[in-house]
Parts: sequence; structure tokens; C-alpha cells
Amino acid sequence: MERVTEFYQLMDESRMIRRDMATSYLKKMVQPTHLEFLKRIAATLCTAPRDQEGVLHLRDEQGRSVLVKDDYETSELQKDILFFEQGEVRFLQYLSELHTGFGEELQQVCDFLGSEPYDAFFTDRDGTVNNYCGRYRSSVQSAYNAVYLSRFGRTVRQTPVILTAAPLMETGIRELCVMPEPLFLLAGSKGGEYCSFEGQRLSRPLPAGVAEAMEALNARLEELLQHPENQVFTQIGSGFQKKLGETTLSYQDVFGSIPERDSRRFSEAVHRIVSDMRSDGHSIRVEDTGKDLELIPASSSEADGGHSNGDELSHFTKGDGLRFLVQELKLLLTGKRVLVCGDTESDLPMVEAALSLGGEVSTVFATSDKDLRRRVHETGARCEFVSTPDVLVAALDRSLAV
Ligand SMILES: [Mg+2]
Repeated sequence: MERVTEFYQLMDESRMIRRDMATSYLKKMVQPTHLEFLKRIAATLCTAPRDQEGVLHLRDEQGRSVLVKDDYETSELQKDILFFEQGEVRFLQYLSELHTGFGEELQQVCDFLGSEPYDAFFTDRDGTVNNYCGRYRSSVQSAYNAVYLSRFGRTVRQTPVILTAAPLMETGIRELCVMPEPLFLLAGSKGGEYCSFEGQRLSRPLPAGVAEAMEALNARLEELLQHPENQVFTQIGSGFQKKLGETTLSYQDVFGSIPERDSRRFSEAVHRIVSDMRSDGHSIRVEDTGKDLELIPASSSEADGGHSNGDELSHFTKGDGLRFLVQELKLLLTGKRVLVCGDTESDLPMVEAALSLGGEVSTVFATSDKDLRRRVHETGARCEFVSTPDVLVAALDRSLAV
């Protein structure tokens, strides 16, 4: 394997195999061929060219070097192979070798969760129930993780929800999750869009003109990304993410893989598209994070540097998303046992929203950050903390699995 496109092809293949594996396993069937496929993928990654730090050195279609730190991809493949080859008891042993204090934490969270089923479950994905991956496009869920979450999801009385800031489709949460459907409702863009169990994409209404502006913007960006010299920008860091009412586009990665000149040329091309769109009457605000451009539709006063008119797009939180989904799915939280899980500050509004809807909220946060832990306590919800998603998913599975 030499090319970065091959790396993504492998991860795409792993996604399909893992979905099949999780589905068969949950039906108590195991297909040995699947395991062989996964092993082959792991072996291909293993033999790819690396530097002393273990970082993959791949090439894009133009022959330029692209560095890929594939810790997530490699370690999750190894976990899957172990889970399906050596069984669940050995797998838990492996997790406890991997994480100091795993056993005690697991017991503590199981005690916290209790054995009575929850009425509702809302969880963030990355960093909470899924280990964190630096590259969005290859953050494919592991099959063991899908098995654990599915077994827990089945015990929840109302539709369990995965609520993420990432987009829903076109390399969104729908493609990256491998859990058998229908079980979890998958919601992207902070809960502003979701996929119904009939396979229909549904979303909250956007202010007039915003959907059209984003569609026009995304079409122009896609055209830009079609050029062979630009394809690499979909393959680094956050890549190209079409969220509801917001598009993210990487122009550099943490390694500085992209030569400064190319990076600047690309970023300028994106800015030109945005300013062209302004002359067509579409206002788009550009936020530069240092590696990504966040493209957000703005009210005309905002785009002109004026004061924001309280643009609801920028202020939509995961709490708003939770409220929207509760309404859409006709969930009942009042007086009900609700579990909310997260790992960052942006997940706090989910806890607050569930409380404000009258839920008896328990929350588990995957964080060691003292300040964030204090803020979780301050919500008034019953709370518990874990140091890694592995503990949380194992505890979810163990506490209530049927
Ligand atoms: Mg997260």
C-alpha cells in the first residue's frame, strides 16, 4: 500500500465487513471468512511504509507525500480481531491490560448504571462511545463496539439516539457506524438532521435561503475538489464535511503534510468561492481554525462585519438538537430514566435539555478534565466519569445486556 486512496479503500472495506460481523455475531453466527478479511486489512496496514514514529508515509494521486497517523485504525482492527478470534473474556482482559484501572472503573460505572433499563438514551459518538480518531473519514466504528452498543441499545425502552456534531450522510455518521439497523437513531449536525428508520433524511428547518446558499456553496466546493491536485484535501484531518447549515473543509493537517504553497492556494480558492457567492447575494462566514475552514451561512449584517442578529445557526447546540429529536420521535422524558453520555463541553447542553424536559437524568462523561467534571456536577444530574470510551461501552454492555 502506497497511496492514501488505498488506505481509505481499506477502511471502507473494513466498514462493510464489520457491519456484517456485528450483525452475524448478534445473531450468534460467526463467519470465519470475515475475520480473515479483517486480518488481511490489518496486515496491509502493517506492511505499509512508516517512519520511526510509526507514522504512515503515503502518496496522493499527484505523488505528493501525505502522512497518516493510523493509531485509531490499527488499534481498533487489532481489538476486533481479538474479540472475534479469542472471545469476550479474553477481550476484556486485553482492555484491562490496555487501560490502567480498567477493572475498577468498569465496576464503578456498572454500579452507577444499575440494572434497571433506561427509558431513553442520548449519546455523543467520538470520544464518548467511540475511541477518538484524528481523521474523520476513516473513523469507522469497530465491530466489537457495535456489538456492545447494540446489546445495550436493545434494552432501552424508547429509541436510543447517537447525537453527533459530524454530518449525517455522504461520509457521515451513517456510513461510519456499523451497528445493525434499525436500532439506534443516528443524528448528525448536533441533532439537526437524522435518518428515519425508513431510510429518509430529515432535518430541522433552516432560515429562508440558507439551504439554497449551502447547496450552491457545496456544489462549487465539490467542483474545486474534483481537480486532481485538490483531492488530497478530502483525505486529511477533518476532510470535507457537509453538515446541516455548515461545511467544514481541511486545508492542512497536524503534520503539515500539505506544502505551504498548496495549502495557501487551496484556502484562497475557497475564499474566492465565498466572495463570489457574496456577490450573488449569499452570505457565508469563514472561520479559520488553523487547519480547517468552517463555512457558515451568515445574516448579511454579520458577513459585512456588522453585529450578529442572533443567528440561530451558530447558536444551535446539542441541547437544541436533543429537543428537536424528542419532538420528532415523540419521546417522553418526563419522570423517565434518561441516560446522557458525552465527553466535551459541547455535550453539556444535552444533559441540561434532558433535565429541562423533566427527565431523571443520569450522565456519564468520558473525561479527566477537572473543570469539565465540575460543570457536569453543576448540571444537577446524577453523574459518573470514565477515562476512556472502552470502559463506558463495556459497562453499558455488562450492566444491562440481554
Ligand atoms: Mg465527542
